[in-house]
Formats: sequence, structure tokens, C-alpha cells
Amino acid sequence: MSQPHIYRLNSKEVARATEEWLTKRGVTKEQIGQLVMLLQKDYFPDLTLAECVLNVEAVLSKREVQNAVLTGIQLDMLAEEGKLLPPLQDMIAYDEGLYGCDEILALSIVNVYGSIGLTNFGYVDKLKPGVLKKLNDKSSGETHTFLDDIVGAIAASASSRIAHRKQAEREESEQNASHNDE
Ligand SMILES: [Mg+2]
Repeated sequence: MSQPHIYRLNSKEVARATEEWLTKRGVTKEQIGQLVMLLQKDYFPDLTLAECVLNVEAVLSKREVQNAVLTGIQLDMLAEEGKLLPPLQDMIAYDEGLYGCDEILALSIVNVYGSIGLTNFGYVDKLKPGVLKKLNDKSSGETHTFLDDIVGAIAASASSRIAHRKQAEREESEQNASHNDE
């Protein structure tokens, strides 16, 4: 008798596929880092693009984030190929304003990073700077209904991560300074 198929999750494979599909869909970590820079440069003038990219990588290393990226890209691609059931096919292909599940999926990323992530997500969604403008370009023939929100959410989450870490660093150095005064 043949053994039933046993499902084993391969975390490395999920992480690798996430990187691969983001690249294949035309999004680089640097482009997401530039969004982070835009969101945080007024608060931290010394912030570098390399630091932003490191924080994007940290966000991308989380399974919740990888799951959202892979699910969103898959739905975008199925819509591009016309393979979804009607009327969902047209709702996703035409990025129907009242659909909203793309934003909800992206919120599963932001949820991991608290309220700063949430406000930044709303901000980039309205403004659509940098790579988000390209993803929203409907004349390209590509469908990025899910990916644009996901990329915005990754940038917003990396921004929140930076804000929390910088605050912790600041408190630590203030504490050390006060210890030295004692
Ligand atoms: Mg969208």
C-alpha cells in the first residue's frame, strides 16, 4: 500500500519563493526601501537607504508577510490570465473600487507591526509614490490589484519597525548617559 502524502512545510522554500515572485512581478527591495525612506526621512534625517532595505528584509522574513505576498501575487496572475470565476475575474482585473479584499489581505502584514504601520499604510495608499505608481498603471496590461497594497503594507511595516527601534535606541542612550552622570 502506498504511503499517504504527508505535508511538511518548508519555511526556506516559502521565503525563497516570496523573493523570487516579487522580483518576477517587477518589485525590488530597494524600491520598497525608497518608500520607507519617504515615510521616515522627516523623523530620522540620518536614515539611509541601506537601513531602510534592511528593515524591508526583516519584514519580508516573517511568514505572515510571505503568505500574503504569495497569495496576492497568485490572485493577480490568475486575473491577468483570465482564469478567475466571474464576476470575481472582472472585479480583480479592473481593480473595482468596492472590492476591498486586496487592502484586507495587506492589512494582515500591517497587523504584525501596530498602529504606526496602519497610519503609514493609509498614507502611501492615498499618495501612491514611487513603485506604487508603476503598479497602479492600468495601461501596462499587467494586473497588480493585490501587489500594490502588499508593497505599501511592507513599506509601512518597515517604517513602523524603524520608528520603534529608533525610539528604543534613543531611550537606551539616554539611560546610559544618565548612568554616566551618577
Ligand atoms: Mg489594490
